[in-house]
Amino acid sequence: MANEIRVIKEKCTGCILCFRECMFGAISIIDEERQISDGRRIKKLARIDLDKCTFCGACVAACKKFAAIELKKEESAVHLDIDPSHYRGIWIYAEQRHGEISPVVYELISEARRLADKLGVKLSAVLMGDKIESKAKDLIYYGADKVYIFDDPVLAEFQDDPYSELLAKLIAEEKPEIVLMGATNIGRSFASRVAAKIRTGLTADCTALDVDVSTRNLLQTRPAFGGNIMATILTPSHRPQMATVRHKVFKPAAPEPSRKGEVVRKNVNHSELVVRTKFLKFVKDASAKVNLADADIIVSGGRGLGKPEGFKLLEELAEALGGAVGSSRAAVDAGWIAYSHQVGQTGRTVSPKIYVACGISGQIQHLVGMNSSDIIIAINKDASSPMMKMASFALEGDIYEIVPALIKAIKER
Ligand SMILES: Cc1cc2nc3c(=O)[nH]c(=O)nc-3n(C[C@H](O)[C@H](O)[C@H](O)COP(=O)(O)OP(=O)(O)OC[C@H]3O[C@@H](n4cnc5c(N)ncnc54)[C@H](O)[C@@H]3O)c2cc1C
Repeated sequence: MANEIRVIKEKCTGCILCFRECMFGAISIIDEERQISDGRRIKKLARIDLDKCTFCGACVAACKKFAAIELKKEESAVHLDIDPSHYRGIWIYAEQRHGEISPVVYELISEARRLADKLGVKLSAVLMGDKIESKAKDLIYYGADKVYIFDDPVLAEFQDDPYSELLAKLIAEEKPEIVLMGATNIGRSFASRVAAKIRTGLTADCTALDVDVSTRNLLQTRPAFGGNIMATILTPSHRPQMATVRHKVFKPAAPEPSRKGEVVRKNVNHSELVVRTKFLKFVKDASAKVNLADADIIVSGGRGLGKPEGFKLLEELAEALGGAVGSSRAAVDAGWIAYSHQVGQTGRTVSPKIYVACGISGQIQHLVGMNSSDIIIAINKDASSPMMKMASFALEGDIYEIVPALIKAIKER
């Protein structure tokens, strides 16, 4: 059944409460004189434009007194039970590609382990793919108590439909209270589909997590309003609570090969799977010489470079240090460097051992992407800029004098 919404003409008083509440401009008040069920003659009627309506239910709540709007929501294929007390345990999705577990998974396990211990529950990992069973032990060594495995050729390449169907059904059966995924390209697409299927909330791109032991609510912190505030978001009345977490926000724990855990193999019932997309081929991005997210040293440039050629100089410094080149959004917007190098809120989160910020002022949207770097070296003409103030080493002066001198000194050593 699809979503349905209607105004009950016999009850609507044309009071405009629903009109005021609708954020999508889907309600208008039209002229239509008639008698309503309490005998009154009414001249106005609310009308809902179905092309604009998102079936959010805000108008139904606003019309509680008259109960003149009826909303029937589409039933999910998955049986839903949102009573929080029926849900226990923390899950992480162990994203893998071609048999390689994504590094964010080990960071997630480490943080999820901390949260599971705080709540006194088990930590489980869900591993999906083809011929990936051997990876289960790694997840246990890093902190999982249990690993659910879907190992089947149909899962060889990530596709939203079969993956989300299987995970949503498993969640509905096993009822974990928290499900975490990496905020990778796959995680962002996958988590939202699963959350929609099981009708729960999802906080994307979290930079900090915690739990309130008394309510068992997950405290999901992420930048909001353009990065100007850090918002902590709760999902108090739905379960599970779902969040995606950025790479490099948490540090992975060291593996313990003596750890023991349970492996649960799950069957894939092909006849129940709907696969609406076809995987054609995998094309590796050959443009990035060093993966920014994994680099130990990053030399980043900003608007202060003044011209695209400035990045040639930074490449030379990065090469001398054995690092990667990053950038601020201002440099990307100016067309001086590709977006794949952008660090920050709308770029990548990085956490290198050394971050060299050349001509970057240090606006909050840039800082949220690199402020967990171990050592920050800032090169800037303006000693009062935020980046210079937060740097471990602040070099005041012109990039075009300082950087060549650094390259020369490093090469001489
Ligand atoms: C929703 C939203 C998301 C955003 N996401 C991101 C993001 O992901 N990443 C990001 O970086 N920004 C992001 N921004 C933009 C951010 O607000 C800043 O505009 C941007 O980071 C500024 O870049 P910058 O530091 O290179 O430039 P500026 O702020 O202009 O700083 C240039 C610096 O260079 C110095 N300088 C100038 N000439 C020289 C010289 N010759 N030698 C030495 N120093 C010099 C100046 O003193 C100055 O400090 C976002 C903004 C919004 C609204």
